[in-house]
Amino acid sequence: MLANYITYLNFIDEKLKKFFERQKPYIFCKKGCAKCCKNAQFPYSSIETAYLISGFMKLDKSIQEKVDINLQRILEEKKNFTGEKFRYDCPFLVDDVCCVYEYRGLVCRSFGLMTNGVNGKIQVPFCCFEGLNYSNVMEDDGKKISPEKFEKLGVEEEPVAFNISYEFLTDPDFERGFNFAFGAKKPLIDWLTMPEK
Ligand code: SF4
Ligand code: SF4
Repeated sequence: MLANYITYLNFIDEKLKKFFERQKPYIFCKKGCAKCCKNAQFPYSSIETAYLISGFMKLDKSIQEKVDINLQRILEEKKNFTGEKFRYDCPFLVDDVCCVYEYRGLVCRSFGLMTNGVNGKIQVPFCCFEGLNYSNVMEDDGKKISPEKFEKLGVEEEPVAFNISYEFLTDPDFERGFNFAFGAKKPLIDWLTMPEK
């Protein structure tokens, strides 16, 4: 089943690669920018987690130990957390680089693009408000394209919002089409604290 999931990932990666390429003038992602790997929940399905862990198992012992230290710290924070939605820095982030990059899940692969949110409203990634993706072309709190900024950039294509929500990327149609099952979905940290099912 993992092999079919990998085929699906390759299919999605191809699409995402094209989307990122199209949006290149508005994208500021680079190795070492790890803002989107911090302070979030990171939804993961069972199969995404299994693939991620398979990548972790291939890492050098020294990196695995760093991840383990991160994990223990997060679990301690989680134990003392009393709010509703626990947010944390991803334990697989080591020295601001993802140590399981090739094995990362869908939310990690798609983050950074502008998406079609609820009610068809466009949604910019949060880093737009930190001077990163789409900040050079959006105005009004990321709600609309600034004609002045767009003109100044002198690029051909306007920013485009893609249908790449986690819900869409984990749609049952993909499971049927590629013959695998995502399984349960929950924050990544909850897969790492409970025995796998
Ligand atoms: S999506 Fe934003 S926060 Fe994440 S790597 Fe790209 S620029 Fe950095
Ligand atoms: S798995 Fe990698 S890309 Fe995804 S949040 Fe963790 S460190 Fe970032």
